[in-house]
Amino acid sequence: MSEGAAKKEEKPRKFQAVRGTRDLLPPETALWNRVEQTAHEIFSTFGFGEIRLPVFEPTELFARAVGGETDIVNKEMYAFDLHGSFFLEYRRQEIPRYPEELTPAEYEQAIREFLEGIDFALQSERLEKTGENLAVIEETRQAFQALQKSIQSLDLQQKNDGSSWSVEQLNSAEKIKDLAEKIKLGSYAALRPEATASVCRAYIEHGMQQLPQPVKLYYMGPMFRRERPQKGRYRQFYQIGAEVLGGSDAPAIDAEVIEMVMTFFDRLELQGVQLDMNSIGDRNCRPKYVELLRAELLKVKDKLGADSQRRIETNPLRVLDSKLESEQGIIATLPRIADHLCEECAAHYAAVKHQLEMRGVIYRENWRLVRGLDYYMRTTFEITAQGLGSQNAVCGGGRYDGLVELLGGPPTKGIGFAIGEDRLILSLLESGKGAVTTGRDVYIAWMGERAHATAIRAAKDLRKAGFSVELPPVEQKFGKALGQADKLGAKYALILGDNEVSEGLWTLKTLADGSQAKFTEPDLLEHLRRQKALSS
Ligand code: ATP
Ligand code: MG
Repeated sequence: MSEGAAKKEEKPRKFQAVRGTRDLLPPETALWNRVEQTAHEIFSTFGFGEIRLPVFEPTELFARAVGGETDIVNKEMYAFDLHGSFFLEYRRQEIPRYPEELTPAEYEQAIREFLEGIDFALQSERLEKTGENLAVIEETRQAFQALQKSIQSLDLQQKNDGSSWSVEQLNSAEKIKDLAEKIKLGSYAALRPEATASVCRAYIEHGMQQLPQPVKLYYMGPMFRRERPQKGRYRQFYQIGAEVLGGSDAPAIDAEVIEMVMTFFDRLELQGVQLDMNSIGDRNCRPKYVELLRAELLKVKDKLGADSQRRIETNPLRVLDSKLESEQGIIATLPRIADHLCEECAAHYAAVKHQLEMRGVIYRENWRLVRGLDYYMRTTFEITAQGLGSQNAVCGGGRYDGLVELLGGPPTKGIGFAIGEDRLILSLLESGKGAVTTGRDVYIAWMGERAHATAIRAAKDLRKAGFSVELPPVEQKFGKALGQADKLGAKYALILGDNEVSEGLWTLKTLADGSQAKFTEPDLLEHLRRQKALSS
């Protein structure tokens, strides 16, 4: 290798964010903060409290809640071995299915190493110490000790000869392998693809059914799905969501939750907001509708694309979701769930719409609106906004009365929504409603040791009064300092030189128009306060 090549090799690797993840940087993060702050404010006026949840949970929780047949669970979850017991899995695989593939001595060693690994894992709390697991481990150990004794009675040559296995030894070796397979080595967790399941898990775990019902919770934070990244679709994305758990399923609850999201969007001045409503029935009426839909779809199967054809079997409702141009004409002729709701669901849906009208919430009925997750029933809704292309859904939600029970809790009513914060921000930026004030209020241009001391004190006082202040760490010529102030988008430059300090009169330059004025220290603070009050 040439010296040049060697040097090249030494160059440290440059890292990039993993595909589908991204950094959020200033000044955009100021907008994220504004959005989140607004959510805290609005949601608390509706009596919601914040819940902070773990970012990973048992994989099984999501499989159960979201549904085993969904893409999210089948393809999109980031799951990992919680106990880090890969090495044990490896050692277990080193034990051959057919013992005669090894000599008795080798086989004895393979099992011994596996069991040593198990002991170590038990000591370091890396294995689940359930009674069942401990019992299988003990049984494996005893079976091994018996085999070990029998192997030790062989002479050296036999021990190292693969053909010296007795039938009895082979049988017990195979039994050990079977037992070893039964030991549960780890449990799996997944990065959360959504948070409703976690909120329900927490509701049950903390016995929240004992609290006054309903319990109203909201959350915000990152979610993870292994989807194809594109505009408005990431593998780590952020949701702001809320759930109402327990109490009744009164239609006013559905309507108030929707009113809350709409109030939030309104406060943010989100543009092109469109609320779509539907009811997807319940356990009584939906199955019958789905069967009807399936039967009708089968009649037109040839005219549908491959995806929809597959969904006729797996999840016919999802066909309604199709965006495929060629299918639109056919979908328009399909039976509509609104015409097939049972009496209770129909009454509930009508009442929700009435409640929305009482609250002045404008909606559009969309009979094709279904949700991707299994747990929804009755009220479903989706909100779209402008500037997002085909990923234009900023919020999805609905009622999920059976979910808590499905997760082992008491029968509990539930309704909630999740807002895609990334898309919300994108839409605000596209429509020019994403402006946030950045830059500094005051840039302090100081020169000289005495002025530096005054500048430090001035910065402290201004910051205490809530102004954003840039204090350069080293002395700069005034010209350079003013240029720097401009680049940082400062509103004012406070000029502190020897003259100013000895006179006790400070020069304030307004950068927008270049005007200058002199102030005593208290007057300056007062002046800035007044200006700030005027501009806000
Ligand atoms: P989509 O139709 O975009 O696939 P979804 O039905 O999968 O959405 P939900 O699971 O209901 O969405 O999540 C609620 C909201 O979260 C969506 O409306 C969207 O704004 C946002 N969201 C979902 N997946 C992503 C993602 N991969 N990247 C960014 N935002 C997302
Ligand atoms: Mg999706």
